[in-house]
Amino acid sequence: MTGKTGSVSNVAFIGLGVMGTPMARHLAAAGHQVTVYNRTPEKALAWVALYGNRAAPTPREAADGAEFVLLCVGNDDDVRQVVYGPDGVLAGVAAGAVLVDHTTASAEVAKELAEAAAEFGVGFVDAPVSGGQAGAENGQLTVMCGSDDEAFYELARPVMEAYAKATSLMGPAGSGQLTKMVNQICIAGVVQGLAEGINFAAKAGLDPDAVIDVIRYGAAQSWQMENRGHTMAKGEFDFGFAVEWMRKDLGIVLAEADRNGARLPVTALIDQFYAQVIARGGRRWDTSSLIHLLAND
Ligand code: NAP
Repeated sequence: MTGKTGSVSNVAFIGLGVMGTPMARHLAAAGHQVTVYNRTPEKALAWVALYGNRAAPTPREAADGAEFVLLCVGNDDDVRQVVYGPDGVLAGVAAGAVLVDHTTASAEVAKELAEAAAEFGVGFVDAPVSGGQAGAENGQLTVMCGSDDEAFYELARPVMEAYAKATSLMGPAGSGQLTKMVNQICIAGVVQGLAEGINFAAKAGLDPDAVIDVIRYGAAQSWQMENRGHTMAKGEFDFGFAVEWMRKDLGIVLAEADRNGARLPVTALIDQFYAQVIARGGRRWDTSSLIHLLAND
């Protein structure tokens, strides 16, 4: 059987969260033989009940016999927990396989994993994604990749295409994570600008929805304006990427900027605004909730 991406592979997928669940589903739909692992095993069993294939009780057993091992867990420490140790991926994976990490993590952990994988003769690609839950569900993610060996990226690319509309190799290990950091820096500033604009419109006695419907055709247009402008104006914050994840990402960004000397004055300020959102109970609100600080001061 062949799927959308051509040849069929033995694939392990570790981490069936908001993103991983549909990504693994797309791999199965593309015809790959998928073994899933999830820390909370009920989720893995539920996935198998829906999409067939099989579940493994540990990352090591999931990786056993896999040509590709794909991860999408939470942060650096979570990645280390599933990769290292007696039940980790590296204890089970065979030489010649490729480990792909879709977690948004630091460039440091990517370089560390690349070295650790190389000791086992395993390729490594750091491959954070953009496109959110909707992009994962629709198989339309953008994947930003880093790898020390382009050949491993080229092997993994057709597999990732099961859930991606675009994949790019940006440079050596860590480059995918660095590119994702740029993405998050750009989003932070845009969302705060949008929040200030919408709040200003309301304070000025304008109808914020009418304002958005006009200026979205001009130079202020953005993905955030198109997709979040009207919900921000209504004070609705239940539309995707959570504030706690954004704070994790901005923490990674600010630590990297400390190392490379890049000045990020606005990003650092917005990170503090997100801390205030969390103090108001908005840990699981989406990132457009910055406007809550302006509209309810
Ligand atoms: P999520 O729904 O919270 O899922 C996290 C997954 O990782 C769960 O399967 C969880 O297992 C597993 N996990 C966490 N810590 C673990 C550990 N120490 N050991 C083993 N498994 C562990 O998160 P998500 O929204 O899918 O996000 C996953 C990654 O993608 C994050 O790095 C996030 O920043 C990034 N991302 C998310 C979005 C988005 O819109 N959600 C967009 C782009 C990038 P359990 O089920 O047992 O908790």
